[in-house]
Amino acid sequence: MAAAWQDVVRDAAAVREAAAVAVDAALLAGGLMRTGEQPNASDVVNYAPFTLLPSPVPRALFEQAYAVQQDFNLLVDAVSQNKEFLEQTLASTIKADDFTAQLFRIYMQVLEEGLAQPVFLGINRSDYMFDCGLDGTAALRQIEINTIAASFGGLTSRTADVHRLVLKVLGKTEEASHLLPNNPAKGLALGIAKAWELYGSQRAVVMFLVEEVQRNIFDQRCVEIELWNRNIGVVRKRFRDVFEQGSLDASRRLYMDGQEVAVVYYREGYVPQTYNQQNWEARLLLERSRAVKCPDIATQLAGTKKVQQELSRPGTLEKLLPGHPEAVARIRATFAGLYSLDEGEEGDRIAATAIADPDRFVLKPQREGGGNNLYGEELREVLEKIKDSPERTSYILMDKIKPQPALNYLLRAHSPLQVSECISELGIFGVYVRQGQQLVLNQAAGHLLRTKAVEHADGGVAAGVAVLDTPYLV
Ligand code: ADP
Ligand code: MG
Repeated sequence: MAAAWQDVVRDAAAVREAAAVAVDAALLAGGLMRTGEQPNASDVVNYAPFTLLPSPVPRALFEQAYAVQQDFNLLVDAVSQNKEFLEQTLASTIKADDFTAQLFRIYMQVLEEGLAQPVFLGINRSDYMFDCGLDGTAALRQIEINTIAASFGGLTSRTADVHRLVLKVLGKTEEASHLLPNNPAKGLALGIAKAWELYGSQRAVVMFLVEEVQRNIFDQRCVEIELWNRNIGVVRKRFRDVFEQGSLDASRRLYMDGQEVAVVYYREGYVPQTYNQQNWEARLLLERSRAVKCPDIATQLAGTKKVQQELSRPGTLEKLLPGHPEAVARIRATFAGLYSLDEGEEGDRIAATAIADPDRFVLKPQREGGGNNLYGEELREVLEKIKDSPERTSYILMDKIKPQPALNYLLRAHSPLQVSECISELGIFGVYVRQGQQLVLNQAAGHLLRTKAVEHADGGVAAGVAVLDTPYLV
């Protein structure tokens, strides 16, 4: 698998020429990001970082990841509707983690009041790495499922076109023709449009709830433009705008300065730093409203690492998806070892094992967005410190996935062109819409491949570690 482009990776002149073409093609195709210096203006932009070459991905695992996506949609939807499961699963976590606790408080509060909207829109991305066994065979292992603000469904569609061109420039015309078409933004927009339609008001708009710092705006614009093409209006607002302009009428319809909102699509709201008192109030207003939320707060909670860990317990999937034994089997086949650090003997035992052999594990807090997990020596030190305190329960442990590295070039503005040993993470986008108890849409919407140099244990594209890539099926 590592040998896909062996003949070209070491040909410095060919690589230099191809990289120059690749960067210009990425700019032309719209694979763009705003700069760190001017994150809220589009006067000067960069290309979003990407690999020079498409990375090899085992075809069977790629197909397996697509085949299980509708099952994961079903599962996330089922968890989000299961109050007892969420309550039990998160009970220990919310004692130790304030952020999850605050999300949970809002969840309980809106349930108590009664939900104003029977339509639910889920957009998620299930991420995987290819674990390399001792015999050299690779297995698909889920890293996590992102149920809020899953990004790069727009920009990723631009990367495949660039890679097709790069392969041609490198004399690989035949291989270029094998790269798959991929446009998740279209699928995401289809889901949002369906929810908008079910909301049932021509005048109402879709509100993208966006960050204060908007470097990744072009990715979001891809989805926005798909909606405008369907004659659905889009507005972009931040939490503070909601606090200042948002209101509910007597039937809890959401208005922003007089404009009715049918769908709230969160591209923000998953890290504690987002929230001050006002922004928490804004979040509560949105959750109480009749607008369709993508995701609603229950679905955000369904995406926590603690829920992921509890789902891996024997018997849990069967309880959540009764009557779906095949879906359960497909889902379980993607799970890595996941371990609770709750107080008690089970947690004591796994904590001791991880302290003794930290390189086997990843220690994960209830956080999203990359750069939060702990590995190796750092894992050992932290676990040693918290092993006898309740703080331990705000983390979970996971088996560390060890993929086979491949050589590639990571193209990044202002960075030297140099070959790196890289590993990749495959994401599959899922979209579903439920009206009452009826699932009216359930689809896989496309894929995303992100690649990083092996020396980085953690971190996504937004964090400046991983870059966009295209799978080359082998
Ligand atoms: P986040 O919500 O911050 O994205 P993730 O669980 O996706 O958290 O972890 C972030 C990154 O850490 C992943 O993109 C991956 O590169 C690495 N990682 C996470 N879990 C594992 C694992 N079990 N084995 C190896 N690497 C992992
Ligand atoms: Mg992740």
